[in-house]
Amino acid sequence: MQTNKNAECKKCLNKFYQKEIYTIQQFQYKEQPEYKWTLNFLKKLGITEWDSFCEKCIMIYSKELDNAWSNQKDQVI
Ligand SMILES: [Zn+2]
Repeated sequence: MQTNKNAECKKCLNKFYQKEIYTIQQFQYKEQPEYKWTLNFLKKLGITEWDSFCEKCIMIYSKELDNAWSNQKDQVI
């Protein structure tokens, strides 16, 4: 069993367990926006598919993503 907190969140820099890592790859299961759009948006924030985040920070990005997506949808229509 792993007891070392050797994973680090890229955003808040907190240490946590490896098995609790979240990455933006989980956003590919979102219905909207499509994953390609998600990757592009997060790339502008300096985030790649290989960055590790804690649960709290991945939720923040998830919300930012939803906000940005609904904003740009309004602009297109
Ligand atoms: Zn974090």
